[in-house]
Amino acid sequence: MSERYDFDLFVIGAGSGGVRAARVAAETGAKVAIAEEYRYGGTCVIRGCIPKKYLVYASDYGKKFKEAAGYGWTFKELSYDHNMFMNSVASEVERLSQIYRKNLKNAGVTLYDCKATIIDRHTIELGEEDHTISAQKILIATGGTPWRPSEESLPGVSKSITSNEVFDLRTLPSSVVLSGGGYIAVEFAHIFAGLGVSTTLVYRGEKVLKRFDEEIRDEVQENLTKAGIHVITQTDIIEIRENSDLEHPFMVSLSDGRQIETGLVVMATGRAPNTAGLGCENAGIALGDNGEVKVDKTSRTNIDNIWAVGDVTDRVQLTPVAIREGHAFADSEFGGKPWNFEHEYIATAVFSQPEVGTVGYSEADARKLFGDVKIFRTKFRSMKQILSGDDSKVMMKLVVNASDDRVVGVHMVGSDAAEIIQMIGVAVKQGVTKADFDRTCAVHPTVAEEFVTLR
Ligand code: FAD
Repeated sequence: MSERYDFDLFVIGAGSGGVRAARVAAETGAKVAIAEEYRYGGTCVIRGCIPKKYLVYASDYGKKFKEAAGYGWTFKELSYDHNMFMNSVASEVERLSQIYRKNLKNAGVTLYDCKATIIDRHTIELGEEDHTISAQKILIATGGTPWRPSEESLPGVSKSITSNEVFDLRTLPSSVVLSGGGYIAVEFAHIFAGLGVSTTLVYRGEKVLKRFDEEIRDEVQENLTKAGIHVITQTDIIEIRENSDLEHPFMVSLSDGRQIETGLVVMATGRAPNTAGLGCENAGIALGDNGEVKVDKTSRTNIDNIWAVGDVTDRVQLTPVAIREGHAFADSEFGGKPWNFEHEYIATAVFSQPEVGTVGYSEADARKLFGDVKIFRTKFRSMKQILSGDDSKVMMKLVVNASDDRVVGVHMVGSDAAEIIQMIGVAVKQGVTKADFDRTCAVHPTVAEEFVTLR
C-alpha cells in the first residue's frame, strides 16, 4: 500500500463497473474507497435492466392470458394494479441495492454516500463540505444519464419524462407518446402497450434499432405494430404543450403537422456520459465529443493513474460490459493478473415482445468486413404460437464468413431469444463454424433447434 495517499484506489460511482472493480481490488488487500451520490447498484439495479425486466414480465402477462385461451383456459375477471406491482419492484430493487452495499463493506471497501469531484490527479472532494481525500489511483465509473433535447430546440420538453421517471410512476396514463427508436424506446413501447396504455412511438429514423441487422429491424418494427403500437417514423416531436383535457394533459406537435393528445410524453432519445461537474478538467482528463472519458484498451485515460469503465466511456453501454471492464482493471492493476476485455462478439438482447437476441456482426457489417458472406435464415410460427393465436413470427439468421466458414453473426427475434443467444454467444466467441452447427444434434421439439438445422 502507498504511504503517500489515503487510499490505493478511489472509485467514483457504485454502479455495475465501479462496484465490481472496487470489490475485486479490495479483495487483493488494497485500500479502496468508493463514492456513490445516489443509490448503490447504479443504473442497472435502480433504474435500468432490473426494474425494466420486471416491467417486461408484468406487461407480457396480459398477452399470455389472452393466448392461454387457445390452450383451453378462460378467466372471468382480469385486473392489474400498477401501484401494487411497482411497490413490489421497489422493494426488490432496495433489497438488491443493500446487497451491493453489504458486499462492498464485507470486502473492506470504505463507502462515501456523496458526490465525488476530481480536484487534481490524486485528489477527490467529497460532497459539498470541503472534505478532500487522496488516492494513488482513481477509477471513474459514473455511468450515463438520459439525454433530452434542450428547451430551445424542443419547446415544452421539460413536460416530458425519461426512463428514470418511468420507474416512479404509480398510476398508468391512458395514453403515452414515446420519442426514440433505440432499444430503450422499443422496450418501453411494448411495456406500456402490454399494460393496456394506448401507445405511440415517434422516431426520426426510417426504422427502429439502428445498427442492428436489417432483418431484425424489420421484424421488430412489424411486431411493434402487431402489438397495437402506433409507430410514426421519419418524424420529430417539435413541441409539447399543456392540454385542457384532464385525461390527456399534453398536446404533442409533430414535424408532419399532426397533433396528438396524450397522458404522458417519454423521451428515450439516447444517453449522455456522466462527466458534467465531475472535475475531469481539473486533472486534464481528455473527453470525447459526446463528453465521454477517452480510454485505451486497458481502460486507462490520458492521465496514467486514472482509468474509466462502463457507460461513461461510451464504448458498449451494457451492464455485463461495465462489469467485465471493471474486473479487468482491478485484476490488472491490483491482482497481478493483467487482461483486457475484448469488445468483439458480445451477445446482447432487446426485451421487445417478442425478444431480440444477437451476437456478432450484422449482415451489412460482415459484408463490409469480410467481403463474401453466406446467409442462412428461417422465419416461422413456432409450435406454441400455432395454438395460442400469436401471429408474430420467429426469425433466425446466421451470417457466415465464406472464406473460413466461421459464424460471425447470429440474430434472432422470438420468444426466449435472449436466453438462447446467451448460449450461442459462448460458441461464437470460441470461433464456431457453420459445419460445427451442422454437426450438432437438435433438441426436439424446440425453437432453438432451427439454428442447427438451417441449410
Ligand atoms: P451506472 O450503473 O450508471 O453507475 C454509475 C453510478 O455512478 C451511478 O450510481 C451514479 O449515481 C454514480 N455517480 C455518477 N456521478 C457520480 C459522482 N460524481 N459521485 C458519486 N457517484 C456518482 N444493460 C444491459 O446489459 N441489459 C439491459 O437490459 C439494460 N437495460 C437498460 C434499461 C434502461 C432503461 C437503461 C437506462 C439502461 C439499461 N442497460 C441495460 C444499460 C446498463 O444499465 C448500463 O450499461 C450499466 O448500468 C452501466 O454501468 P456503469 O457502472 O457504467 O454505470
